[in-house]
Amino acid sequence: MPLTVHQFPCLSDNYGFLVRDEASGKVACIDTPDAEAIIAAAEAKGWGIDMVLNTHWHADHAGGNEAIKARFGAELIGPQEVKAHFPLDRTVGDGDVVELGATRFAVLDTGGHTLGHVSYYDAADGIAFVGDTLFPLGCGRVFEGTPQQMWTSLSRLAALPADTVAYSAHEYTLANGRFAATVDDSADLAARMAAVEAARERGEPTVPTTIALERQTNPFLRAPLLSEKADPAEAFAEIRALKDNFKG
Ligand code: ZN
Ligand code: FE
Repeated sequence: MPLTVHQFPCLSDNYGFLVRDEASGKVACIDTPDAEAIIAAAEAKGWGIDMVLNTHWHADHAGGNEAIKARFGAELIGPQEVKAHFPLDRTVGDGDVVELGATRFAVLDTGGHTLGHVSYYDAADGIAFVGDTLFPLGCGRVFEGTPQQMWTSLSRLAALPADTVAYSAHEYTLANGRFAATVDDSADLAARMAAVEAARERGEPTVPTTIALERQTNPFLRAPLLSEKADPAEAFAEIRALKDNFKG
């Protein structure tokens, strides 16, 4: 039985995700950027929220934990690092599996943006929730980890099956693409940017993406091809530094 994903905008550029395991009717909320918007979205669907799955500790990902638990009694699940900032009932880490009815989410360590950032991968449905690690045409800033750690995390996501649908936590794609065009003159990237611009003009989201599309056009996954550096992590670090200083 499939997993239904309901995606909606939160705050200025986050996405909220409510996911329903159709076999059991159980619902999880991926991150809690805006409790009010999430509660309204659940109520509009007539859904409860059985669990929250946090990707990392930032307030636009775990700040609504308390309110979602108060409203629905949801079990709060996430990496240990969340505990220092927001309530959490169950700690998970790399290799753990979270069961939502018949759906199984493998927990993948994808640290780098924060040290303990995790992603949730449902292999049976080919769906991954990647938080602030991988974005369409971009990746998260390396706030707490090292470029080597972030490169390892991105490589893990890039190694998922090509048709995996990846749900990122933010709509940053236009800005990401403007930067990407400064380091990569490929026809694939130009074609994708034209599609992204058209989608945004129509007011459509560019999330989710696929692992295939990101392998083909994401300048961070392509860093070893775009940099002179022989070491892939150093190539990644170079492209990441250029993006950090990019004034689009
Ligand atoms: Zn973040
Ligand atoms: Fe974020």
